Amino acid sequence: MSQTQSLEVVDSLALLSLKVATNTFDLSSGMHHVSIRDQIVRAQLLVRDLQRGDPALESLLIVGGGVAGVFAALAAADLGVKEVVVVDVADQLFSLIRNVRERFVGPFMYEWPSAFFSDQSYPSHAQTPWRGSSMSPLHWKSAEPCSASDFAHLLTCKLDQRLRNSSIASPRIFLRVDRLDVKSFVRNFVRTEAIAAWDLLNGRARSARAEFSQGSVLDYQSRTHSPLRVRPQYVILASGMGQEDCTLVKVDATGNPYGGQNFTGQAFWANDSLRDSAKANEEIYIFGGGDGAMQDALRALTGTEHPLKILDHLQKDTATKVAIERHSAGLLALDRQGRQLATWTRGPESYQAIDKGCQVLASCLAQDSNVRRRVAEIRREGNGSVTLVVREPHFGKAYMLNRFLIHLFDACCKSGVQDGTPRMDFQLYFGWQPVGYRQIGTKHEVDIQELANHNNIRPCQPDVIVVRYGIERNSVPGTQMIQLSNRPSRQRTTLSRVELPFVAG
Ligand SMILES: Cc1cc2nc3c(=O)[nH]c(=O)nc-3n(C[C@H](O)[C@H](O)[C@H](O)COP(=O)(O)OP(=O)(O)OC[C@H]3O[C@@H](n4cnc5c(N)ncnc54)[C@H](O)[C@@H]3O)c2cc1C
Repeated sequence: MSQTQSLEVVDSLALLSLKVATNTFDLSSGMHHVSIRDQIVRAQLLVRDLQRGDPALESLLIVGGGVAGVFAALAAADLGVKEVVVVDVADQLFSLIRNVRERFVGPFMYEWPSAFFSDQSYPSHAQTPWRGSSMSPLHWKSAEPCSASDFAHLLTCKLDQRLRNSSIASPRIFLRVDRLDVKSFVRNFVRTEAIAAWDLLNGRARSARAEFSQGSVLDYQSRTHSPLRVRPQYVILASGMGQEDCTLVKVDATGNPYGGQNFTGQAFWANDSLRDSAKANEEIYIFGGGDGAMQDALRALTGTEHPLKILDHLQKDTATKVAIERHSAGLLALDRQGRQLATWTRGPESYQAIDKGCQVLASCLAQDSNVRRRVAEIRREGNGSVTLVVREPHFGKAYMLNRFLIHLFDACCKSGVQDGTPRMDFQLYFGWQPVGYRQIGTKHEVDIQELANHNNIRPCQPDVIVVRYGIERNSVPGTQMIQLSNRPSRQRTTLSRVELPFVAG
């Protein structure tokens, strides 16, 4: 480079943290922050940086038509990328969340106790400085969280509106593509691009780009079947997080891999019956120590759709509202500390400290009789109970709203205060794991073992079992497609943990 040439500095955090092979980026695998909003922002930042990093960018193939894939595609089209193609194996976009009526989502609800948690519009927000930000291909207004199925419907309507606007370039979207063809194309693409990069480094002309072709796939816009051919410069994998692990028992009482009768529960994104009124008289056991398990415990215990409804109920009582607000600065500080520490810490220490702090604040609040009464009132009337069994001595990665409410219910239930009505009970077991399962007729029997004392094994007879163990490591689609090793990877321990902004602007 001559001395007169200046070096242009471009943002590269997204490129570095999401790159998995030459000219190949993965929005899905092994990420730390993966709310729907995180995926939207992650997709936009990647496309922004890719375009700035390579002004010759003209052609992009995006694998997966969930929120990440669709937002990446629209962001790329908005930035003027000529050819943007999305392919999905499903026959509809947003297939993961499309028919889920029981889960409620909202881009900001889990930002509590930040001041702007209560409005679920995106990206603008009445209370925030980024109000009116235009840095999102799709915008929506929603005062409250909505069901995942309504959310998918809302995104579909917005997307269709956007695609009908012929004055802006649109991505092409193809459904029902063949999974094996995608996989072999991605592998071929990675190989071809690696060889081409080597050739370019050595001053040789690059070989032809790999072509992805399908004889007949469903064109989303025209709803007709047509052939597809594309030779992308870059591939963005947005094919989701992989298979959830919902199988209950992993080890037996001696710590060896479990080989006996087992139980496999429903996936997180499936419609369940936890909030049905009959469930208030049943014994519900939930296994897991993250957001999924906590969300289900709260839904089962209160019958509410999402945790903001619980908070709303608590805060309708002025004395309880004041008591919670007294602790909100402390909770916010804990939340920030937890998120920032997680960037720097791979092990569980960051969660341990934040969990302890949250537990202390919840116990303090539970000493207030107004708070205890209000917490008691929102537990469902019935003779049933919810038991949350966590293998670790504390919760894992979880939003402050879920973590705080669970600790508050735990502290208030331990205080034993009742309002005279029989209500669902709540029990929290830290440091216990399931070590045996039997089905006797329609009944379940589960043995749970205390990790600190292996001889302490308790048989329980749940009516309902929920297993929330997160994603199976070997099923992460990106890794499988590129055929990198299935062994746990250390490549992303830090960058995948960097927190994402609330909006991309
Ligand atoms: C257990 C769990 C609980 C969660 N809870 C919440 C929550 O409460 N709130 C929240 O905001 N977020 C939550 N999330 C995160 C949320 O699910 C994701 O952020 C979001 O749905 C992911 O969007 P995505 O586009 O990355 O992936 P997905 O929505 O999974 O989309 C992936 C798409 O890729 C397609 N696909 C898969 N393989 C291929 C292939 N080989 N070729 C082509 N297409 C393919 C699929 O058909 C699918 O349409 C949760 C996630 C999990 C796993």
